[in-house]
Amino acid sequence: MSETIFTKIINKEIPAEILYEDEMSLAFRDINPQAPMHFLVIPKKAIATINDIEKEDREVVGHLSWVAAHILKEHGLAEQGFRTVMNCNEYGGQTVYHIHLHVLAGKPLGWPPYSDKL
Ligand code: 5GP
Repeated sequence: MSETIFTKIINKEIPAEILYEDEMSLAFRDINPQAPMHFLVIPKKAIATINDIEKEDREVVGHLSWVAAHILKEHGLAEQGFRTVMNCNEYGGQTVYHIHLHVLAGKPLGWPPYSDKL
């Protein structure tokens, strides 16, 4: 698989605002935030899309959600709620082919409309 910009971020070849790092994963703020808090959690293993996840990757992929909640708890944003999204391929709007969990928090999010739930 060809290298993406996220491999460069993992290798600290280009800067990013890193929020969390361990042996399996890295989390950093999205360069184009869509919410007051918008960060990406990625595995250090370069997996191109959700379609490329192997059975042996289950632990690391599940770990991404734990990292998301861990960071949000540290920032006091977990309880009010948030959204995680992983886009896949063209119709899913994926632009970087190294899987990443988007984590959006800090405001009521669109779709499903927040007002419909009041
Ligand atoms: P996708 O469209 O693949 O689901 O999401 C890719 C995300 O990566 C986008 O939200 C985009 O703003 C973010 N992104 C792309 N390049 C960089 C970068 O160099 N640094 C950071 N921090 N985020 C990036």
